Amino acid sequence: MAQTAPVNLSIGKKGAINMKKFDYHTHNGYSRCVKAPWKIIAGWKVAKSKGIEKLGVTNHVHFNHPEQHYLTHLRKEIQEINEDGLLLGVELDIDSPDGQNVLKKETYAIIDYVIAAPHNQPTDFLNNFDFDKEDEEAYFSDLKKILTMAMKQIQFDIWAHPFLQELNKLDLRYWDIYLEDIFMDCLEICVNRGIAIEITAQWHKEYSRPKKNTWYPEMTISKELYEIINKMYKIAADNKDIKFSLASDSHSLQHIGDISVPLFYVEKLHISDDRILEIEKKS
Ligand SMILES: [Zn+2]
Ligand SMILES: [Zn+2]
Repeated sequence: MAQTAPVNLSIGKKGAINMKKFDYHTHNGYSRCVKAPWKIIAGWKVAKSKGIEKLGVTNHVHFNHPEQHYLTHLRKEIQEINEDGLLLGVELDIDSPDGQNVLKKETYAIIDYVIAAPHNQPTDFLNNFDFDKEDEEAYFSDLKKILTMAMKQIQFDIWAHPFLQELNKLDLRYWDIYLEDIFMDCLEICVNRGIAIEITAQWHKEYSRPKKNTWYPEMTISKELYEIINKMYKIAADNKDIKFSLASDSHSLQHIGDISVPLFYVEKLHISDDRILEIEKKS
């Protein structure tokens, strides 16, 4: 039987009712990854039908082609709908070890918030080719620089899908060898800079790593990956100064507001409601 988007993750009813239901990471167009662009008004209706109180539209601003002029049109679209729960953000590529920011001042002036993550790491190279220890070390030392420099220098609010690319594509033993240490360093900067950690539904999507040893009928990921994700979020949850952001990372109308996976981790790790990031609309 084909496994589909995450549902029924055994979220206790009491917890689910009291939790904040925000979806701060969705894509409605302006990128090749969105196959069927949707209007924000249609997205807002879907979000409300799923009990989502705040919805953020966060299309990409790419590192190599940082087109961002389209955001003025989206701001207008959102202003016309005029709902307090509807926000305009961007998903910013951070791909430079020098912490270079491709987001313009004018853009900051019209958006409500920024989520950021690297997207162009050479994981396929590391995965598919014969590489030695030196290549491996270079990859992770670059990744650490990219993340820490961006967190120190660029104004953003949410670290989107931490290590999604690495944990989905590379050998999971890298968590112990490199990623956990990088995560600890990043968390410290996140505390100082007020950057929230995103809990994303992406981990459980169909195109995640092969489903061998799937541990739980509703979960579409391996037990091995689940344990690492759980550990990562637990480290963050144990640091009381860290806030979290919930994300469907939906690229289609039907998946807007699908935050049952993030809510599952929130409940499992006893993350209190006041630690769920709440963003106010600017204008
Ligand atoms: Zn992303
Ligand atoms: Zn995204």
